[in-house]
Amino acid sequence: MISVDLECENKHRFEGEFKNSSSYKNQLENGMIACPVCGSMESRRLYTGCSFQAGPTAGTSIDRKYSSIFEALRSFNNFVRKNFENVGDGFTEKARAMHYDIEEKKYIRKRIKQ
Ligand SMILES: [Zn+2]
Repeated sequence: MISVDLECENKHRFEGEFKNSSSYKNQLENGMIACPVCGSMESRRLYTGCSFQAGPTAGTSIDRKYSSIFEALRSFNNFVRKNFENVGDGFTEKARAMHYDIEEKKYIRKRIKQ
């Protein structure tokens, strides 16, 4: 879902929610968007920002792969432990050295609390 800020020809501002941007364009082109205040079918989009809402088909892979957020976090934690080198207290110096190409770039981490 996308949320679009609209303004009618009489300067009434309102918000419309559409399945996606092509759904919005389709409804606009076919005169299906009416101002809730005056009923005008002439409106334009205001680019004041928009928001996205994840629908059932737009869920993240976490939704499908894990039964809970805790299980997902546990899996992420295990991934970091397995794939990132623990450089302990030297993390900052290591990161800086890699940033300035003094050392080869690799995945590093500090100690992960139990
Ligand atoms: Zn209006």
